[in-house]
Amino acid sequence: MQAAIAAMAAHTILFSFTPSQIVLNPVAFSTPHNNPQLLSPFHGVFLNKLTRQSVTLAATAPKPLTVVASSKKAVAVLNGNSNVKGVVTLTQENEGLFSFKLLTTSILMNVYLIGPTTVNVRITGLAPGPHGFHLHEYGDTTNGCVSTGAHFNPNKLTHGAPEDEVRHAGDLGNIIANADGVAEATIVDSLIPLTGPNAVIGRALVVHELEDDLGKGGHELSLTTGNAGGRLACGIVGLTPI
Ligand SMILES: [Zn+2]
Repeated sequence: MQAAIAAMAAHTILFSFTPSQIVLNPVAFSTPHNNPQLLSPFHGVFLNKLTRQSVTLAATAPKPLTVVASSKKAVAVLNGNSNVKGVVTLTQENEGLFSFKLLTTSILMNVYLIGPTTVNVRITGLAPGPHGFHLHEYGDTTNGCVSTGAHFNPNKLTHGAPEDEVRHAGDLGNIIANADGVAEATIVDSLIPLTGPNAVIGRALVVHELEDDLGKGGHELSLTTGNAGGRLACGIVGLTPI
């Protein structure tokens, strides 16, 4: 039993999905009735929408076990060979805390549900109008913004718009500079987490010379880069205090 608990804990490292989609399927969590000690405390529980409040399925909790750490914040300071500069912050907060007690044990498990990442952008020195804005694969600026590689694309899809299902994770669309050359935006995106296997810490944000056509421009580069032109400035995403 202890081995089973350890295995369960080891596999319950990160829940990264939209809370409104959460359904704890009783079939998936049920175990054979001829072994009642392994019956899951999840049985029959559906959570269609979680809040930040704790959902506790057990009354006694002498040994809390936190599976995933709390909120994270990151920052990227963008610079390049032009006058374009900027600061971008990325914040990922917990959407809720799900606590449950493993049957026949005194272990309480706390699982944080990870929400989308909020990206606050302020970039100056741009030509007025839209500019492609992407999360690129590498946090490597040894050869300037060129060495940050292609758009971050862990699922090997083609380039698209942030709202498309088929897109690079790093496809954050366009930011729009005003007449003074200042672009300010708040982007909320679920594919650029700060924790987990696809975390973007250590990668780079890049602002481009031209508008990203979001894969729909018909240019030979539309499906890879959005034909967004040169890289005006970039910055490596690094952790910062919350
Ligand atoms: Zn892309």
